[in-house]
Amino acid sequence: MTSSPIFQNHKQKLSPVWPHFTQIEVSHAKGSYLFDSRNQPYLDFTSGIGVTNIGHCHPRVVQAIQRQAERLIHGQATVVYHQPMLDLVTELEKVLPTHLNSFFFANSGSEAVESALKLARQATKKTNIIAFQGGYHGRTVGAMSLTTAKTIYRSHYQPLMPGVHIAPYPDPFRYRGVSPEDLSEWCLQELQHLLRTQTSPEETAAMIIEPILGEGGYVVPPKNFLPRLKEICEQHGILLILDEIQTGFGRTGKFFAYEHFGVEPDILLIAKGLASGMPLSGVVANRRWMNHWQKGSHGGTYGGNALSCAAAAETLRVIHDERLLAKAKTAGDRLMNRLRDTAKYCSYLGEIRGLGLMIGCEFVDYLNYSKQYIAERVRKECLKKRLILLTCGTENHVIRWIPPLNITPQQVEEAVNIFEWALDHALK
Ligand code: PMP
Repeated sequence: MTSSPIFQNHKQKLSPVWPHFTQIEVSHAKGSYLFDSRNQPYLDFTSGIGVTNIGHCHPRVVQAIQRQAERLIHGQATVVYHQPMLDLVTELEKVLPTHLNSFFFANSGSEAVESALKLARQATKKTNIIAFQGGYHGRTVGAMSLTTAKTIYRSHYQPLMPGVHIAPYPDPFRYRGVSPEDLSEWCLQELQHLLRTQTSPEETAAMIIEPILGEGGYVVPPKNFLPRLKEICEQHGILLILDEIQTGFGRTGKFFAYEHFGVEPDILLIAKGLASGMPLSGVVANRRWMNHWQKGSHGGTYGGNALSCAAAAETLRVIHDERLLAKAKTAGDRLMNRLRDTAKYCSYLGEIRGLGLMIGCEFVDYLNYSKQYIAERVRKECLKKRLILLTCGTENHVIRWIPPLNITPQQVEEAVNIFEWALDHALK
């Protein structure tokens, strides 16, 4: 699979903290494919973990980066204003509600989360944060303190940031047997209890939540959960931060996942699909809140980098011009239907769920095999046939499907055929 001498010599020198789910030595990429050093194509159903939503190296984005590189690479955001950032604001405004009218840019999702924590604290003059069970918000200390998707993300890094409280997230498959509405109601009651017993509304600045759990297992909450959560936030003067870092930019068939639930955040976090692989993230809020953020009290050298902003503005135009939301919905329906048909004949596939092209296949224990063992075996069998998939979920027991939004029907068919083959071979 891999070959070059430099790869053999140097791969040991990279920190083992990166798990490396494949041994592919990637040479280049185009659309839905990665190519290794022997020019073998791999069907990439990970999109670089939900980043290359419009496909790898989209020609319009490549050109936008090239053009921008000739004009200005670094225009430091606290020193000057630069055109790509202003263009990006114009493009974002087209897809956001009017109250989300003030923008801060950083480099990574984790940084956006950190920024939102700081903004929420200064804007509300309150300290505490409520996050939700199974959530993933990043690896920096603040973001990690909000992350409960798996213990590996937090273990042996203590002490974490104080003032964080965790409320339950309704995971209907985990609590199958209870109706989704009852589960949602129970979670909300627990949340209210938390506000009475651990962190009062007077000291709670914000709640942060993913509208669909990402790393935590591609869990879609019952329809009424987010609207009721928003009501509770409003009732208590607590800001609602939606982390759309993985769910945004057409991933779920709508521009942002909150549109499925009829809920708008006070603070919106964006990254990943925003800039097609260039490092960029953003915090979007109403100017009323941003005005409380003390000038100079937050920032960074590279945040809102000119190349990244140019890539992002063009990415947004491509999503619009190529009607990628509609394509994601159609391709997502096709993929979901095929996977659900497959699941009918497979004793270890428990549930297929998701929205648009954010689809999770949850495995269940079977005979003597654990669900995480089966998921990993299936993933590895797919890799043998050059289909790249990733797992997620608390026990890595969910295979997630996050192809580019412009994935073709043939590529969907090819991927599901490989998956079916892998299901047949995984336990042999
Ligand atoms: N929030 C969510 C929902 C994410 O999925 C991720 C990344 N997987 C992050 C935050 C952190 O982003 P980054 O890795 O860019 O720091």
